[in-house]
Amino acid sequence: MALIDTHTHLNFPEFRQDMETVIERAFTQGVVMLVNVGTDLTTSQESVNLAHRYREIYTTVGVHPHYADNFSSVAEQIRNLARSQKVVAIGEIGLDYFRSISSHDNQLVAFRAQLNLAVQVEKPVVLHCRDAYTEVLSVLEQEYLPRLNGRLPGVIHSFAAGPTYVQKFLKLGFYIGLNNLITYPKNDSLQEAVKIIPLERIIIETDCPYLPPWQLKGQRSEPVHVAEVAKQIAELKGLPIKQVEDTTTMNARHIFHLPVDA
Ligand SMILES: [Zn+2]
Repeated sequence: MALIDTHTHLNFPEFRQDMETVIERAFTQGVVMLVNVGTDLTTSQESVNLAHRYREIYTTVGVHPHYADNFSSVAEQIRNLARSQKVVAIGEIGLDYFRSISSHDNQLVAFRAQLNLAVQVEKPVVLHCRDAYTEVLSVLEQEYLPRLNGRLPGVIHSFAAGPTYVQKFLKLGFYIGLNNLITYPKNDSLQEAVKIIPLERIIIETDCPYLPPWQLKGQRSEPVHVAEVAKQIAELKGLPIKQVEDTTTMNARHIFHLPVDA
């Protein structure tokens, strides 16, 4: 087993006591690489530092839509960090109209500016989207995709919608990031979506400390739980688990340009 957890938040307070143990546990139980994701300036900076401490950890930098109200004051520093070694993507960025913590106007400004940054540094994006799939797609189609010059656009992380939206993101060339949400019951339309995504376009993640596997609901999630995501994909698609593990790992290496031997 050689899995890549493509979306972790190991520098969040939930891991303050035992982050190193959690990382060791992942690396001794089949996880070979991690992509830790920034959500604001502080977590992006911390994540870059973390990636410099561990050969197998890579990072993104970016301002999550929840923090978009602050974006203008940190834009310059995010831009500088984006070129750091081991930064493999800009993210997580996008729109969150479910919680609407920052104003929709500011979310759009931050989203557009960071798509622009991704184009400039020639790195893919990690998208966060809640209750704003139509709006996210329209910004991508108008302002991002025409400027990629054949490069891969990125991933829609924690995909949670049904077959209609999955088809749209696939058509635009995005990878689909799946996590343990797909193990939750009463998630029929998401599970239908999983069945139609070609395995070649799926990457797996935990989004830890959030979204533990259904059996561990209420507990903290951690990178070892990415194995449950692979298992559920294999079950839903009727594929051998080994094929799901190998292909999703290869996909993660491809989209984030990760080395094969680290
Ligand atoms: Zn996240």
